[in-house]
Amino acid sequence: MSSKPSNPAHLPAPTAHPLPSYLNADHVGPWGIFLQQVDRVEPYLGNLARWVETLKRPKRILIVDVPIHLDDGSVAHFEGYRVQHNTSRGPGKGGVRFHQDVTLSEVMALSAWMSVKNAAVNVPYGGAKGGIRVDPKTLSRGELERMTRRYTSEIGIIIGPNKDIPAPDVNTNDQIMAWMMDTYSMNQGSTATGVVTGKPVDLGGSLGRREATGRGVFTVGVEAAKHIGMDVSKARVAVQGFGNVGGVAGKLFAEAGARVVAVQDHGGTIYREAGLDVPALLRHVAEHGSVGGFKDAEVLANDKFWEVPCDILIPAALEQQITKTNAGRIQAKMIIEGANGPTTPEADDILHERNILVLPDVIANAGGVTVSYFEWVQDFSSFFWDEDEINARLVKVMRDAFTAIWQVSNDHKVSLRTATFIVACKRILHTRELRGLYP
Ligand code: NAD
Repeated sequence: MSSKPSNPAHLPAPTAHPLPSYLNADHVGPWGIFLQQVDRVEPYLGNLARWVETLKRPKRILIVDVPIHLDDGSVAHFEGYRVQHNTSRGPGKGGVRFHQDVTLSEVMALSAWMSVKNAAVNVPYGGAKGGIRVDPKTLSRGELERMTRRYTSEIGIIIGPNKDIPAPDVNTNDQIMAWMMDTYSMNQGSTATGVVTGKPVDLGGSLGRREATGRGVFTVGVEAAKHIGMDVSKARVAVQGFGNVGGVAGKLFAEAGARVVAVQDHGGTIYREAGLDVPALLRHVAEHGSVGGFKDAEVLANDKFWEVPCDILIPAALEQQITKTNAGRIQAKMIIEGANGPTTPEADDILHERNILVLPDVIANAGGVTVSYFEWVQDFSSFFWDEDEINARLVKVMRDAFTAIWQVSNDHKVSLRTATFIVACKRILHTRELRGLYP
C-alpha cells in the first residue's frame, strides 16, 4: 500500500505560469469578463483555490477550417471552433452558434459559462461551446447543410456521446442537430443519437425541451419572488425577446396571473398597462415574425422599454443589453436573465447598488441544459418519458439549485451571480482535486 497523503489539499499549490497570449488576463472581450468573474470568486474557494488556474485555461481548443462548395460552384471557407473548457465533472456540453460575430474569445467564454451553469444545476457535465463565424441567412439550405456536416466532421475528433455533446444555440435548431447527428453517425458507422441534444422528437429528442429554458426562467422567478415577498400573480412583467425563451417565460407568467405589460423584440416595443393578451401575441409573432404591428398595444420607442413601470424584467434576447447607460433607469425589483450575458459588469454594480435583485444567466436559463441532460439519459436508455415527468423533474432541479445558491448568497452577503459561481466552481474544483493530475 502506498503511504502517500490521502488528502491532496495538503499538497503545495500548483505554480501559476503566465497565460498564453490568447488567454491574456487583460483581454477585454467576453473571456476577459469571465476571468474577472473568477477573480471575484477566488477568495471564497478555501483550499480549492489552489486549483483555480484550471478555470482560467480551457482544457482544449479546436479551430477548424470549414470549406464547402457554394451553389454557384465556387468554394467558401468558414472558421469554426469547438472549445472544451472543463471536463472534470463529465463530458463537455454546450451549444453551437452560427453568427457573423463569433470569435474565439466569445466561444471560450461561453464554454466556461457552460461549465459554471452545468455545475450550478449539478448535471454531470463539463462545459463546452462551438461556433462558426458565418451569417447563416446568406446561405441556401443546401449550403447550410454542407457547412454543418463538414464542421461536424472536423470537430468529430473531439465530440461524442461520452466526450462532448453539442446542442442548439443562436441560429442553430433541431434540423441542424439532426444533420450533426447523422454526420457523426455516418462517420462512426452506427446511429449515435446521444451525440447531440435538442434533436427533433422523432429522432431521439425530448418532449418539453423547446419550452425548458423559459420554464426554468419562470421557476426560479417564482422561487425568488417568495424570498422577497413579491406576489407573482400581481406582478407586472416586461420581456425583451419573445422567441423560444422570452415567449415561453412570458406565457407562463401570464398563466400565473401576472400582467405582461411590455414586450420588445427586433421588430419594436409594445406596451399595455392593463397587460398584453399573451396567447394572441404569441400567435401574432408566429404569423408575422415579430411583435411589430400587434393591435391592442401602444408602440414605444425602443429605448423607453428600459424604463417601463414593472416588477420583473426578463432580458431574453441578446448579450450586453443592460449597460451603464440604462441600468439606472430600470424600475423592476427583479431581473431574470433568460439570455446569456445580457448584463455588463458595470451595469451589475449599478443594479446591486440600487437593490435590484438579479437572477443570473448561469442559473436562470439553465432549464435548457437540464432537459438536454434528460434527453441524453433517455437516448442512452432508449426509453422516453412523458412530458409531465420531464417538467416535474425540471422544476425540482431548478428549485433545489436555486435554494442552495440563495443560501450561499445570504451566508456570504454576495450577489446571486457570485453565489452561483461559488457553488459551481467549488463543485468543479472538488472533482479536479479528487481526480488528481494525469499522469
Ligand atoms: P430566439 O431566436 O428564439 O429569440 C430571440 C428573440 O430576440 C426574438 O424575439 C428576437 O426578435 C429578439 N431580438 C433579436 N434582436 C433583437 C434586438 N436587437 N432587440 C430586441 N430583441 C431582439 O432565441 P432564444 O432561443 O429565445 O434565445 C434568446 C437568448 O437566450 C440567447 O441569448 C440565448 O443564448 C439564450 N439561451 C437560450 C436557450 C435556449 O434553450 N433556447 C438556453 C439558454 C440561453
